[in-house]
Amino acid sequence: MQNGTIRGHAVLLKGRSGIGKFHFARFLAKSLLCKNPVADHMACGDCVSCNWFEQQTHPDCVILSPEAMLSDSTNAVQPDAENSPPDESKLKKKPGQQISISQIRELDDFVYLSGHQSGYKMVLIYPAEAMNSAASNALLKKLEEPPAQVLFILVSHQPQLLLPTIRSRCQQIAMPVPDADAAMEWLRQSSATHDTDKLRALLALSGYAPLAALALEESHAAHRKFIDSIRKAEQLDPLAAAEGLHNLDLVMTVEWLQKWCYDLLSCRISGVTRFHPDDESHIRTLCQRIEPQSVLAYLRFLNTRQALARHPLQAKLFLEDLFIRYAGLFAPALSGLTQGAD
Ligand SMILES: [Zn+2]
Repeated sequence: MQNGTIRGHAVLLKGRSGIGKFHFARFLAKSLLCKNPVADHMACGDCVSCNWFEQQTHPDCVILSPEAMLSDSTNAVQPDAENSPPDESKLKKKPGQQISISQIRELDDFVYLSGHQSGYKMVLIYPAEAMNSAASNALLKKLEEPPAQVLFILVSHQPQLLLPTIRSRCQQIAMPVPDADAAMEWLRQSSATHDTDKLRALLALSGYAPLAALALEESHAAHRKFIDSIRKAEQLDPLAAAEGLHNLDLVMTVEWLQKWCYDLLSCRISGVTRFHPDDESHIRTLCQRIEPQSVLAYLRFLNTRQALARHPLQAKLFLEDLFIRYAGLFAPALSGLTQGAD
């Protein structure tokens, strides 16, 4: 703000999930609120404002996230949660996945009344695409008539899902994927494991998004089992694979299959793999047995399954279908030629 990089009253930080946009947004808000900023306007970490911020009690900062995230996140606080009377219907309800209009409305006092301190007030919205349409429209009104001394910081993995009118009211800042070495260094420090090969594999699987890589750590063994089930395409028994894997999270499983098929296709077309460096030589051989067109069609099919994976009627049937079609990708080349060969 001080050197003119941030102009106006709203910024949209956009970029891939898992690269640290929300951490950056908090860092930005904290720095702008700091009473005693150090070099490069960064937060001092010592003053009363920085302390409030770390305790999540800063009177001039509000973080809006879906209820479901607030209930299990330590990063976000709900404005006025303590002052709201207990509402029975709400207590019984599952925590919402969206940012609701009532959350946006609760901002009114905060943004329109004068601040606790004399400086700026911060409103962080994360992820911004979680706003439902009523909430989006309510926010748009605020952005159209921006309250003085308020900075809205919207953080989004999928900015294309935001109202175009909201996007156009924000200064858009594309957040880059960190370079691989920095990401690896962060991962090494943040992870409990010291197995560098494992961390490297996780980082690749995450598409070089380090926070996403860290989150993958606990599913690492499950992912390995999954890959082992499908990598030898000629030995794949779709029914047995579905039986063995149906307890996994299906959304995650579809995503793994997408990444695997992406690498098959990418390797076949350009000789490059992205997500599975450990299996590169295997993928190099396997991809010779596929028709790029049919893998492309299969990837499109997986996209349509991604939405369904959240509410499948039958996990096993769902996976059987995926694996039968997956096995079908290799069928033409398998006839007589590669049976039994690895
Ligand atoms: Zn400070």
